[in-house]
Amino acid sequence: MTEALSFSPARLGRLYRFIAGESISRTRVVSSVPVYLGNLNIRRATTMAEHEVKLDKEPSLIVHLLSTLVGVAGNCDRLIKEIMELGELAIVDKGKNDLQTEVDRSIQVFVKHFVDNLFPKVTLIAEEDINGETFCSNKEAWKWEPLKLNPEILALEDKLSEDFKDIKQDDIVVWVDPLDGTFEFTEGDLEHVTVMIGIAVKGQALGGVIHHPFFEVEGRLSKASRTIWGLKGVGYGGCEIKTPPDDKLIVAVTKSHSDPLLEAALKKLNPDGIIRVGGAGNKVLHIIDGLAHAYIVPSRGLKRWDSCACEAVLEAMGGLITDIRGNHYSYDKGVHPSNDHGLIAVLDKEKHKIFIELFRD
Ligand code: AMP
Ligand code: MG
Ligand code: MG
Repeated sequence: MTEALSFSPARLGRLYRFIAGESISRTRVVSSVPVYLGNLNIRRATTMAEHEVKLDKEPSLIVHLLSTLVGVAGNCDRLIKEIMELGELAIVDKGKNDLQTEVDRSIQVFVKHFVDNLFPKVTLIAEEDINGETFCSNKEAWKWEPLKLNPEILALEDKLSEDFKDIKQDDIVVWVDPLDGTFEFTEGDLEHVTVMIGIAVKGQALGGVIHHPFFEVEGRLSKASRTIWGLKGVGYGGCEIKTPPDDKLIVAVTKSHSDPLLEAALKKLNPDGIIRVGGAGNKVLHIIDGLAHAYIVPSRGLKRWDSCACEAVLEAMGGLITDIRGNHYSYDKGVHPSNDHGLIAVLDKEKHKIFIELFRD
């Protein structure tokens, strides 16, 4: 169900500032360690038994994991909106235009809780450095929605090849960006934000979930959310793919981390349109929504948690995500998380060559 708000994006930005109070102003950035606002232990608020789902037929691990993570992402949606209403984001400044909020921390703990409990041998690597105990900001006891396993994903079972059915928990690394586009989030640009959960198997991005808590419906920012998912070579869902005009070239690029390399590349490329928006997930959504042909990053800055879910989802749709040399990143548990050689993301694989050429020298 789509609940369109009667506010323009700019107005909603102001509303957000209003409900968040002064907490998003730079003067309230907290010093260096995360601040745990609540004392509610998440383990008391939800037991795994509540989330046990009785199935007629035991699904394969990959289908079970992906459908669980789509359900977890649905619960994250509520978490984001309730923390915003509490109005204290307790921002930690991690570097230049690199922030962490209570939403980032809470979502990370929440996702880890489910993965650790339901899939104990799966490795989870997430963006935020949190050394504290489990926590949740909400002062009241949370009643989590029991996880709903997405029937569309469960139905993929019949399409799986034997390779997929043989996947073991030890083969899997789940890469989590609890909130992508945090900088823009703190600026009130809510539609730039996504929750991203990527599933890598034997080092390759195979499955992904991109949860979009706020998006525009018919030009208005919507309180409704969408969860887009994909399993490479098997299927995808949660959205309708749209294609941008074929006679034009439109690229999506960073809003807050531009550098001379990017500006030089854009000058050389001279595309018909440049969309400057926050978040890696959001730029991939621009491609899926037919607003841009490509998302490009010429230099380092992104990390594996920014690209794993994006790569799996876009490639499940027939697209391609590589570094600027045309290589896929490895998502093995041992890798350094920095994406040192930038990123090229396209849905139309033919367009990929344009950018390989652009970055050749
Ligand atoms: P952007 O396109 O600048 O919104 O970046 C997409 C994602 O990558 C966001 O999660 C950013 O936090 C992250 N990111 C990109 N560049 C940098 C950078 N130079 N330093 C830190 N994070 C970055
Ligand atoms: Mg990110
Ligand atoms: Mg993040």
